[in-house]
Amino acid sequence: MTATGSITVAPCSRIAGELRMPGDKSVSHRAAMLAALANGSSTLSGFLASEDCLNTLSAVEALGAGVERDGTTVTITGTGGTFRPAEGALDLGNSGTGMRLLAGLLAGQTFETELTGDASLCSRPMRRIQEPLEAMGAHVTLTGDTGTAPMRVGGAPLHAISYPLPVASAQVKSCILLAGLYAEGTTTVIEPRPTRDHTEQLLRGMGVPVNVDGLSVSVDGCGSQGPQLTAGSITVPGDFSSAAFWIVAAACRPGSQVTIRNVGLNPRRTALLDVLKRMGAGLSITPTSGADAAEPIGDITVDGSPLYGTTVEGDEIPNLIDELPLVAVAGAMAEGATVIRGAGELRVKESDRIATTVAMLQAVGVQVEEAPDGMTVTGGPVSGGASIDSRGDHRIAMCGAILGLVGRGPVDVVNVDCIATSYPSFWEDLDRVSCRGKDNVTFVIAIDGPAASGKSTVAKRVAAALDDAFYVDSGAVYRGIAWAALERRVDVHDADAVARMLDELDVGFFTRDGAVGFGIDGVEPGMAIRTPAVNNAVSPIAVIPAVRVQVVKWLQGMVSLGTLVMEGRDIGTAVFPETPLKFYLDASPEERVRRRHREMAADNAIDEEEVGASLRRRDKIDSSRKMDPLQVASGAVRIDSTAMGIDQVVDTIVAAVERDGGAWR
Ligand code: C5P
Repeated sequence: MTATGSITVAPCSRIAGELRMPGDKSVSHRAAMLAALANGSSTLSGFLASEDCLNTLSAVEALGAGVERDGTTVTITGTGGTFRPAEGALDLGNSGTGMRLLAGLLAGQTFETELTGDASLCSRPMRRIQEPLEAMGAHVTLTGDTGTAPMRVGGAPLHAISYPLPVASAQVKSCILLAGLYAEGTTTVIEPRPTRDHTEQLLRGMGVPVNVDGLSVSVDGCGSQGPQLTAGSITVPGDFSSAAFWIVAAACRPGSQVTIRNVGLNPRRTALLDVLKRMGAGLSITPTSGADAAEPIGDITVDGSPLYGTTVEGDEIPNLIDELPLVAVAGAMAEGATVIRGAGELRVKESDRIATTVAMLQAVGVQVEEAPDGMTVTGGPVSGGASIDSRGDHRIAMCGAILGLVGRGPVDVVNVDCIATSYPSFWEDLDRVSCRGKDNVTFVIAIDGPAASGKSTVAKRVAAALDDAFYVDSGAVYRGIAWAALERRVDVHDADAVARMLDELDVGFFTRDGAVGFGIDGVEPGMAIRTPAVNNAVSPIAVIPAVRVQVVKWLQGMVSLGTLVMEGRDIGTAVFPETPLKFYLDASPEERVRRRHREMAADNAIDEEEVGASLRRRDKIDSSRKMDPLQVASGAVRIDSTAMGIDQVVDTIVAAVERDGGAWR
């Protein structure tokens, strides 16, 4: 796989919708190979038409099978037991499954075949199949530099072996069992831990008995004339490993809901579901296949909720080996530590997946500690503005996209073309479930005006009236900084001291109940930003250029969350001057003083005069400051609410948004 292509993925407010997964990759490879050897014609429905699986189809065609494909339906006419020599080398592209399983079948043929693949595949370990195949009497020559492909394989007759697998690998197990079909006697593989069993299930479905006794799996060989496999219909279930991206994306984003239909639920593949349940995910599974189906199928619904760290190790590892980078992504979005151990096998996948996963998380600011056989991820903010290089590994590229979707800012994913090896419709599905506001169009509604003009009540109501819109109180951010300065006894008139404090503050934003909230150094200040002391400190704070530059950046970054209804003083002039949806709310000074006094009188014994003086003082500073003073933005709709009811103001704005909203993105 050449490492090319890049794409920027921006966060979305929630993940929602319904998806059908493309066919399972493991089952598609295996079904194509076995149907190619069967007696007669087999129809594979739901076949995964990815680059990897298409390479396998071309390979079996070159070996004598008849192949006709119509989208995801493939008709394969088998050779009846043995292959015919291919002309030239067979290129398996990026696929370890393709190469290792085919090598097993080819070991039993009377001729030799050359197998090759892309740079990634030609760097993956092949001695692990060479050794058992040679023990069965096959000739296997690895012509790569260090026990790697390209390889030449063939050389029947084979004899049966009993082979304890040194590593838990379904590909090595399958390779030996498939070679065992051409041996004299019973071939047995003993696994250190149970691995996926699609080969065993398919063989049984095609009439070849497979005996399983604990961790031992055996097949009876048929000698060099090969097995008698019965052709028929094979339904390829939706790929759980592809569904896993959406399961994790929705699970870690509260407010999300995704249903994925027709997913393969073979228990040797779905350990991710157990892990996510331990982390607190909302999952419900509805089986749709009969109880006795070889490969169970069902629908999975995921509801987003807060997640908590967990430990993944031992027998669970082989049953979620492909999903471990996603477990790390879920860990990044969870509270506490997520520990992965006993997963050294990840180092010899399409990339060194421990190294690539660690680098990916570090790129988005997540704390992660690498171990020889895993990693420890500490949940924390997933920051945007990052670039993630997949290094040509399809699963890392897709994980990078998911981090962009669920994190706090856009992520550039570099080298994304490899995604086509396993999930060609990934980007379409990503678009389908990313909710970015009404009709998938995001826009900003800017509502500016002086203190107590009714902006916050109106803006909250407008946000509630629109689908997927977030209310943003920009004044609260300035207030938060003023509060932090008072707490730390920083002089709010000392611009340098405030700027230094700002550099050290850890300010994080989140969405909750349709609004954007924030925390400062892990504390949500809440009502502490509404005290008279903060009222007096906020305008001097908001005059400081370093403060304004920083807050404007934060506010602009929120656009990636979805549609925003943002209220303040300079939203239409400085923060989002390009939005066509600008409103300037005003009321007479007397009415504003009356409103603010009414608001405050509930819990403060402050007289109207004092409220009036404070309001006038703030108005003066806000409209006379040099940087981004309070003024009517050009093109803003002015609304004087002195004599208007709230409903009337809200209706005016919502009507304007519905008329012009789609124009800006
Ligand atoms: O809206 P609120 O009264 O809570 O805002 C508090 C203060 O924050 C304002 O008086 C103003 O000094 C400052 N502010 C600003 N620009 C904004 C929002 C608020 O300067 N966009």
